[in-house]
Amino acid sequence: MGSNQDGNDGKFILTRELLDEALPKFAIATKAVHADDFSSTHKAIAPCMHTAVNFRYHRDPDTLKPHENTDPANPQDSHIYARYTAPNTTRFEKVLREIFGGRVISYSCGLAAFHGIMCLLRPKRIFITEGYHGVHRGIRLMERLIGVQKLTLEDLDQLEAGDIVHVETPLNPTGTARNLEYYADKAHAKGAYLVVDSTFAPPPLQNPLNQGADLVMHSGTKYIGGHSDMLCGLLVVPQHRVDEGWDGTLIEDRRTYGSIMGNMESWLGLRSLRTLDLRVGKQSATATELVSWLSTELQKPDSVIARTIEKVEHASIQHDALKQGWLQKQMPGGYGPVFSLWTKKAEIAQRLPSRLYVFQHATSLGGVESLMEWRAMSDEGRDPRVLRVSCGVEDVNDMKTDIQQALESMIRDFP
Ligand SMILES: *Cc1c(COP(=O)(O)O)cnc(C)c1O
Repeated sequence: MGSNQDGNDGKFILTRELLDEALPKFAIATKAVHADDFSSTHKAIAPCMHTAVNFRYHRDPDTLKPHENTDPANPQDSHIYARYTAPNTTRFEKVLREIFGGRVISYSCGLAAFHGIMCLLRPKRIFITEGYHGVHRGIRLMERLIGVQKLTLEDLDQLEAGDIVHVETPLNPTGTARNLEYYADKAHAKGAYLVVDSTFAPPPLQNPLNQGADLVMHSGTKYIGGHSDMLCGLLVVPQHRVDEGWDGTLIEDRRTYGSIMGNMESWLGLRSLRTLDLRVGKQSATATELVSWLSTELQKPDSVIARTIEKVEHASIQHDALKQGWLQKQMPGGYGPVFSLWTKKAEIAQRLPSRLYVFQHATSLGGVESLMEWRAMSDEGRDPRVLRVSCGVEDVNDMKTDIQQALESMIRDFP
């Protein structure tokens, strides 16, 4: 209990309860560093890495309770077996809960989180258009198991109670946004659920709970991890769904099919969260600046950009949505750090990534290293002129120079 209650001698000692009370008033950057200050029994400022799988029961046999191992002195560090919960993961989820403003459940990867949704809601039908190819494979698996039917976001007039409307925004690979309030209204009018894949715009950029999402999923492999060295998935459950017991079922299911994060990964994840706000804020600003620069260059007919690039796509130049106003409201923290380039010829798209110094040619996104991927490499059926750009944390002027020199060399070699 707080020790600075009445009748004390002027002494103030910060307690877990006092910090928990103060946390909601902090900004994301502060929560990300301090939400778990009381989650450790150690005095170490940096989180310890726990690799343990099993945890000792109480030594006093009279206090033993089956399936429980709660330590009243340290309620956030009461574990039994690492497939249920583990110290690093619990601490990671505590910080995430403060950042996301909803109960957060972590998974071994983004697709494991998606599978968690399928097992929780057991939909007959899922309405989805485009988006991450792995999610479509996950739906195909559910079709095989329980006959889930896939429809598109154009078919919403057929919505029925219990269906899932799955919206990825910003969308892979273009980085353009979709109006979540519109889809929330459509889904809820029929008793269907809105699930949002928000991987491309983590906090502080957007929070789909504000637009009425029933569940938000993230591939934490991308911006939450942020260093291209860990797999992670997240589900964010809004309070009214927690009240219905959704989080309990998700955690029980996760325990059953064993899709919990590894101890090492959740330790890395905690390290990564400390700089989430810094990284994502900079990556978003960089993408927006590059897109603005490319768009301006596209207007000059003789520029290297205009001679090689057909168009740029990104939420920051989605003029209709910006005019309507929903886009700024949905993404108050800035637009996603991923955008796409359409080259004039497929040959340019195939060769450009190999001529860059700063951007690496690899799939995925969200890391500190900038990437430019020829999408035909990983996204079957994608137009061969599409390049996906994921902005890292390098200097934006170096990135402009890099793109400029690579395109100049393409013109020289393939006039
Ligand atoms: C990467 C990704 C996923 C899948 O996440 P994994 O962590 O690779 O399982 C799902 N959705 C989107 C939008 C992604 O980019």
